[in-house]
Amino acid sequence: MIIVMKQGAERADVEGVVKRVEELGYKVHLSRGEARTIIGIIGADEHLMSQGSFEVMDGVEKTMRVMQPYKLASRDFSHEDTVIDVRGVAIGGPKIVVMAGPCSVESREMIIETAHMIKAAGATILRGGAFKPRSSPYSFQGLGEAGLRFLAEAREATGLPIITEVMSTDDIELVGEYTDIFQVGARNTQNYSLLKALGKVRKPVFLKRGISGKIEELLMSAEYILSGGNMQVMLCERGIRTYETATRNTFDINAIPLLKELSHLPVVSDPAHGTGMWNLVGPIAKAAVAAGTDALMIEVHPDPKRAWSDGAQSLTPEKFAKLMNELKPVAAAVGREI
Ligand code: PEP
Ligand code: MN
Repeated sequence: MIIVMKQGAERADVEGVVKRVEELGYKVHLSRGEARTIIGIIGADEHLMSQGSFEVMDGVEKTMRVMQPYKLASRDFSHEDTVIDVRGVAIGGPKIVVMAGPCSVESREMIIETAHMIKAAGATILRGGAFKPRSSPYSFQGLGEAGLRFLAEAREATGLPIITEVMSTDDIELVGEYTDIFQVGARNTQNYSLLKALGKVRKPVFLKRGISGKIEELLMSAEYILSGGNMQVMLCERGIRTYETATRNTFDINAIPLLKELSHLPVVSDPAHGTGMWNLVGPIAKAAVAAGTDALMIEVHPDPKRAWSDGAQSLTPEKFAKLMNELKPVAAAVGREI
């Protein structure tokens, strides 16, 4: 249930409502927008609606049930877009953020070189996997802590914030010592112990859509993190498994405007995993910008032919720089900047 406060309601009015909710034994989540404050309450709507008598309290405009199973992730909870600040880079604001870098961190030199090149092309966040969720246990599993250290060195060298995947609750502390954003991969989107633990951290979480995940399942996974108290969650469309095998996955362009409608959380698009083919990355990145994505995640490798993972879907730094220029007029056409 949510309680919508009147425009210009006093702080004391908000505090009065919060106190009443807590007296009834529930936890509140406050969303202070520019125009009005919304008070979200998780739990028994019927009981609260009848017991609370919130409508007669000072400063209250109305109470509403949130019909969707996800509550804090819902647009009803916050009409304003959530903007996540990562070391001064705003994700979810008017400027489209580009996160780029290799699928896997392969060496110190390689990640630092790539970081300089993507920065020169206009990317503002560096990606790179140190713990890799590979389909085969015999494939390269990532450099682990050394990879995290090299990412941090690349941040030091370029000033770019970093994002990297955390695969297990056991690794949250270690990854958290280095990363600016925790990435949850498609294979872990419904790992509820991991999501619950990430609800307790104080760093942004980048949540990928599951391999066969429905939109509602993605939003419910976000709800796990939000309900734990971490409100800094972004949702990533990275393609889903369909009957089509001509491409690695089927990038679901519908997801972008739909997620923007259903939720206030920033939406990111990953055309590399969404297609699996480097030559489709540019066209799908442009389509995602046109459809309203808040950010892009793009795999860039200094020499894709020799990449240890996902070379076929990685752009060379030159191709990436060219794409960045081509994205500018597309962003401008939808009233955004890149
Ligand atoms: C990745 O970003 O390299 C990755 C493994 O992505 P996904 O979880 O979408 O497969
Ligand atoms: Mn990858």
